[in-house]
This record gives sequence, structure tokens and C-alpha cells, in this order.
Amino acid sequence: NRKPIFAANWKMNKGASETEDFIKSFLSKLQGQDFPCEIVIAPPFVSLPKLADLLHTATAVQNAHAIQIAAQNCSQFDSGAYTGEISVLMLREFFVHYVILGHSERRAIYGETDAIINAKIKKAREANLKPIFCIGETLAEREAGNLETVLRTQITGGLEGVSEKDLGETVIAYEPVWAIGTGVTASSEQAQEAHAFVRSVIADLYGADAAAKIRIQYGGSVKPGNAAELMACPDIDGALIGGAALEPQSFLEIIRNGS
Ligand code: 13P
Repeated sequence: NRKPIFAANWKMNKGASETEDFIKSFLSKLQGQDFPCEIVIAPPFVSLPKLADLLHTATAVQNAHAIQIAAQNCSQFDSGAYTGEISVLMLREFFVHYVILGHSERRAIYGETDAIINAKIKKAREANLKPIFCIGETLAEREAGNLETVLRTQITGGLEGVSEKDLGETVIAYEPVWAIGTGVTASSEQAQEAHAFVRSVIADLYGADAAAKIRIQYGGSVKPGNAAELMACPDIDGALIGGAALEPQSFLEIIRNGS
């Protein structure tokens, strides 16, 4: 009875006008359909006001309540001299309810460590934002037999000092780095095995009950054609989607096939 969560991570794509085009088209396709899952969209920061306006104002288009807003990052600090950063309270003004943290692109390109990600997760929870906490191994790590060590280290470091209550508001996204943007998806066996391992680490840290409740999304080249098989795995509770969520039709088909 974990509600699946399908989240579009647009990365550095779609300014405000493209966001508007996408939402109008997506909502018209969504019309009259009801999927037993949560739908989340994470646009670039500058498109958040437009998204908030489309989804949460009196004039919001029909069906808009079906979609939740996520940010792709947040600062671990409250305010002050942090050029280029965005605080959790700023995000709250735009009806942001989720925040993607620890994405492999943030880790690899911007040097985010487990400690930084941990600070961001705690800061997000202070503002009642729900972290989508990303973890995942590189191909070299997997081939060297270090999959479990890498995942355990990322989970333990990222969740250091995070209470069971705050974990209950957190989603984990397992995204093998080698499957992101490559067109190579983990097989459903590989994904299920990793998800079951992640859940076992949560059980070690927080107990069986917390482990049974936490939602673990899969991410990495999810498409309409592979969503059903991946989502049928017992420990996969939705998807975090990059490229295939840039088009309303393919995002919708992933949700439909995966629900
Ligand atoms: P792709 O779906 O483009 O592989 O990206 C996955 C991802 O990184 C989502 O956060």
C-alpha cells in the first residue's frame, strides 16, 4: 500500500513559456483519467512561479490539483551571502512540496558530498519539504563489486541524524548512474535487487516498519516501453524520469503503463 510516485525531473530544460505549453497539453491529456499514484514535476527554479500559477491559483486549469511541484535542489543554509543559491523558504512561496536532493549530477558535477546532501535533507525537512533523496552507483563501482557498499554509504551518510518521522516524509530514488540519460535501463532484476537492498539498509537503520513504508523510485532511462515491467517489481514504487518526461505524451504513458 505504498502509493507510487512518478516525478518528472526536467533538469536544465523548459523555461516559463515551455513549462506553460507542457502543462496545458499534459492536463488536457490527463482529463478524465485518474491514476492511483502521485504525479510530481520538477522544473528549473525560474519556472516555479509559472508552474505555481498554473496549478495553484484560482484560475488554475482544470485537473491541476493532480500535480505536485518539486524543486531540483535547495540550499542547506537559511539565507545570507550564498550567491546563486535558493532557500527552502523561497521554495515554499511557490507551492513546492518536494525537493530532489543528491542527484548524481549534483554529486558529480557540483561536488555534493553525502555530508552536504545530509545538511540539505535536514534543511528541507525544517521547511516541511519532502526530500526525493537520490542514490546510485557508477558502472565502475558496480563492476568492481561495490554496489552494496556504495549504496549503504550514500544512505547512511545522507540520512545521518534524520529522524524516523522525517524519513517518513522522504522518498528515495535509486538511480544507477550508468542508466541515466544513456538509454540503458537497469533490467528489472537488477533494479529489484538494488531496491530490495536499499529497503534492507533502511530496515537496519530505522526498523522493519519504516522500511516497509518508504517509497523507493527507480530512475534511469525510464520510458513508456519499460515502465510496466519495472513498476511491477515488488520494491519499486514509482519512477524519477528525465528525458522521457520532457514530452507530455510520453510522461503520461509512463504513468499509465506504470500504474
Ligand atoms: P533519464 O530518464 O533521462 O535517464 O534521467 C533520469 C534522471 O536522472 C532523473 O533524475
